[in-house]
Amino acid sequence: MDYISTRGGGQPVSAAQAIVSGLAPDGGLYVPQSLPSFTLDEIASLAGLGYTGRAVEVLSRYLTDFTRGELTEYVERAYAKSKFPPKAVAPVVPLGDNGAYVLELFHGPTCAFKDFALQLLPFLLTASLKKTGVDKTVVILVATSGDTGKAALEGFADVPGAKICVFYPDGGTSNIQRLQMTTQSGDNVMVFAAKGNFDDAQNGVKRIFTDEPFAEALSEQGYLLSSANSINWGRLVPQIVYYFSAYCELLNAGRIKAGDPIDVAVPTGNFGNILAAWFAKHSGLPIRRLICASNRNNVLTDFIKTGTYDRNRDFFLTASPSMDILISSNLERLLYLLCGRDAGRVRGYMQSLAKTGAYTVERDVLERLQAEFSAGCADDAQTAQTIRDTWEKTGYLCDTHTAVAVRVCEQARGSDKTPAVIASTASPFKFAGSVLPAAFGAAPQGDDFAQLDALAKASGLSAPAALAGLQGRKERFQTVVAPADMKQAVSDWLRLF
Ligand SMILES: *Cc1c(COP(=O)(O)O)cnc(C)c1O
Repeated sequence: MDYISTRGGGQPVSAAQAIVSGLAPDGGLYVPQSLPSFTLDEIASLAGLGYTGRAVEVLSRYLTDFTRGELTEYVERAYAKSKFPPKAVAPVVPLGDNGAYVLELFHGPTCAFKDFALQLLPFLLTASLKKTGVDKTVVILVATSGDTGKAALEGFADVPGAKICVFYPDGGTSNIQRLQMTTQSGDNVMVFAAKGNFDDAQNGVKRIFTDEPFAEALSEQGYLLSSANSINWGRLVPQIVYYFSAYCELLNAGRIKAGDPIDVAVPTGNFGNILAAWFAKHSGLPIRRLICASNRNNVLTDFIKTGTYDRNRDFFLTASPSMDILISSNLERLLYLLCGRDAGRVRGYMQSLAKTGAYTVERDVLERLQAEFSAGCADDAQTAQTIRDTWEKTGYLCDTHTAVAVRVCEQARGSDKTPAVIASTASPFKFAGSVLPAAFGAAPQGDDFAQLDALAKASGLSAPAALAGLQGRKERFQTVVAPADMKQAVSDWLRLF
């Protein structure tokens, strides 16, 4: 199966080429030319497999230029028991008894869902380089709102033939998130704080990617730029797997029968995770509605309700920082797919977004969007209240991002009993400073590690070792750069000019 750019430029490319490039040369994002389709019988048979078995089945339909043998090796290494708990890579936990479930995606090495993609991506990427005959060191550039950076560092550290450089917004992450990145080991890693917010960092990285003279200079030195952001198809495709897996878990638990519809609610930022659910749906998974949950940066809520995407608004730092985004890059893929693969229209939206910060989709696109998506948002106070209510009513402790989706899901469902799977994207311990006061009314005292301890005591749960173990680790990276200097920072790190 081949991949094409959402902006219509260039010829179709293989999955391996799409993964090597990240962004298409015309600035668009790669999407599959057609979508694979699973029958209900095939989905039911996935239920008999473990997570890695399900992953091989789903991935092999999308990544047709990889053999099953290759994919099996990669998923077994990516989701190995040294990295994920073997019995429960992506467990589904009932949230009370009204048909809501939490899909826990935070049991990987960095305690957030991005591990699912970023543990696999290094295998996909290095194999893709070989398949496409590229004999270069790949330089991964990442803009992160917090969780991607660490997950990418963890996935790529000391991978032969790769180097990785991460930019996070200075002051825009939790302290633990920052420490996770600045203490990263590995000889091939670099981390910078970028002045401004996540969008500034992301735009800075995008500018570097579209700078052709820079790419040529890098190429002469034996380097090839690539992205581990969710604009890379290799980031998105592993996420499709866990929606299939969640459905299988519900089947195995006897909560649904094959073919029963479910809703899926996702705390959304860059629109990658929820888009993966859309791909699962359009590959045959019986998903009825996709519920897009935002925090106070509710540009997507407004878009789904009105058809106008408008980033001209205040940007807020919230208690769910990984969703503090005003430009949701992956939305471009959905727009392309909803407007009948009309690249001209997508170019129009994106030009308008670049020029005025806004665009409005036509009525047909809005109708198709609203036929599948519901949207809602929650501010920090509502999020904190949801953490508390959920803990008190069900004994389930959710992080701030998950809580946004729990609340928006409740509101979207009302008294509807259709099973709803809520993606839980981070461990509550990753955001202990917010979760502790929300759930237990305790004012956070002391440093982050004191808060981890306090949260463990109050909840009776234990803090993940990957977080508690950061205490006392030396910070290796402390440089802050302005967005305009990001390219120079990369050059200096690679000692180019
Ligand atoms: C990245 C992230 C999100 C947002 O996911 P997108 O795919 O960017 O929409 C939500 N929650 C957490 C904890 C994250 O790390």
